Amino acid sequence: MNWKLTGWEGINLSVPEDWELSSVDGNREKGTFSLDDGYSIRVEVEWEYPKSTFSMENLIEKYMKELIKKGKNIKCNIVKIKTNFFADKSGAILHWKNHEEGYSSVSYCKKCGRVLFLRVYFPDKRRSKEIFTRILNSLSEHPEQGRETWAIYKLVFSAPENLKRISSSLKAGDITFTFQETQGKGEISLSQIALGNILLKKQPLSAWTKERMGGKIIEEKQEERDNHSYFYFRYKKKTLSLAWEKGVSWYCPISRRIFLVTGNTDPSLLKIYCHQEK
Ligand SMILES: [Zn+2]
Ligand SMILES: [Zn+2]
Repeated sequence: MNWKLTGWEGINLSVPEDWELSSVDGNREKGTFSLDDGYSIRVEVEWEYPKSTFSMENLIEKYMKELIKKGKNIKCNIVKIKTNFFADKSGAILHWKNHEEGYSSVSYCKKCGRVLFLRVYFPDKRRSKEIFTRILNSLSEHPEQGRETWAIYKLVFSAPENLKRISSSLKAGDITFTFQETQGKGEISLSQIALGNILLKKQPLSAWTKERMGGKIIEEKQEERDNHSYFYFRYKKKTLSLAWEKGVSWYCPISRRIFLVTGNTDPSLLKIYCHQEK
């Protein structure tokens, strides 16, 4: 079984390669995402910052009751699994089963005060404990050296932790993220477009970029580096705007995707792994 990284809103975990993002909701403060394997849901992650009155015992009890209510004849227990995940955390691991099986962890991070739920489902009950343990051991929720990793639909990049996602569009083959600095006015967008090899048969990267940017480009430069062609440009976001923003697009011949980074801040704030593993 091959494994890959998934990263969303500062939460990273390794999952089997064919488990892919299927839904997202919320933001950094409170949110959820789920992954499925093309047939059924396999992972759900949920996070929030609880009120100061919260008690872990009550939370676990409430959570167990909810799990039991979700299906027929569910048996649910607290189980012990050897893991380093609970360093600096309080919480528990729950195991439930009927004709299916699942593991959940409920944890409270003493460092940042966040409550995190991880649920992993096993419709066929195979290697369930082993797979759950590997996912749990890989789960991290803090930036590394001030950066956070995002990883979905083969798009893997890292961003400084002070960049907050303000929007994302997750269309098949065309993904866009927009981030804003938490302090200041910096804004940066990143797009990944699939099938670049086909798109660039019709026109060169510069023409593709100009079309995508809606003809707002006012300065340009092309460069070849490590077999990748880059197109650097400046543009005006609005016709009447006085400020010029910066952009770069490139084609990765290995992943055959086009990447486009634009904004009023340094495009290199985002580190994009266009073909290499993180
Ligand atoms: Zn934390
Ligand atoms: Zn590349």
